[in-house]
Amino acid sequence: MGSGFSPAVFLDRDGVLVEDVELLTDASEIRILPGVVEALAMLKEAGYALLVVSNQTVVARGLLDEAGVRVLEAEVETRLVLKGAPPLDGFYFCPHHPKATVSVYRQTCECRKPRPGMLLKAAEEHGIDLSRSFMVGDRPTDLLAGQRAGCRTIWVKTGQHEAPIIETREDPVQAQPDHVCLDLLEAAKWIMSLGPHSN
Ligand SMILES: [Mg+2]
Ligand SMILES: [Zn+2]
Repeated sequence: MGSGFSPAVFLDRDGVLVEDVELLTDASEIRILPGVVEALAMLKEAGYALLVVSNQTVVARGLLDEAGVRVLEAEVETRLVLKGAPPLDGFYFCPHHPKATVSVYRQTCECRKPRPGMLLKAAEEHGIDLSRSFMVGDRPTDLLAGQRAGCRTIWVKTGQHEAPIIETREDPVQAQPDHVCLDLLEAAKWIMSLGPHSN
């Protein structure tokens, strides 16, 4: 008891918080998914840090710069808060891609999911206990990143992906979620059903 570290819920952005429109580059395309506001309020109330971790290939493709991603993040948060959600604790994104058209982003980085770099950085910056934390995502890569960071993982069906289990080419590890949910609200209720996290 009393580790001083908080649990977190790591959240993918597109397909979990907002509708996945493939390549989100304009604030007019932001649509908050149903149940998200209530889910975030429930998790925050229960003591979870809320940390968004998102691959943003729009940057690697030259469709949006990093400042543009920050503008969209701020807009997502503003809309959530206006609807009654608590402020989020942090936004992290990976701008890289091994085949990026913008050369400065063309690299095999540690932050692009399915690698766990973003979660590890966020955990360090926010004092997170990964073993009591969860990763919620709509893609197998989200689940792998969560597993590798030592979190429990939840697959939600609000994205565009048919099944949570794949074998990635880069790695034969299977992404097998700890739980499958319709949406983030159901995921939050499942986390609540596990009981209070021990501090
Ligand atoms: Mg997604
Ligand atoms: Zn990266």
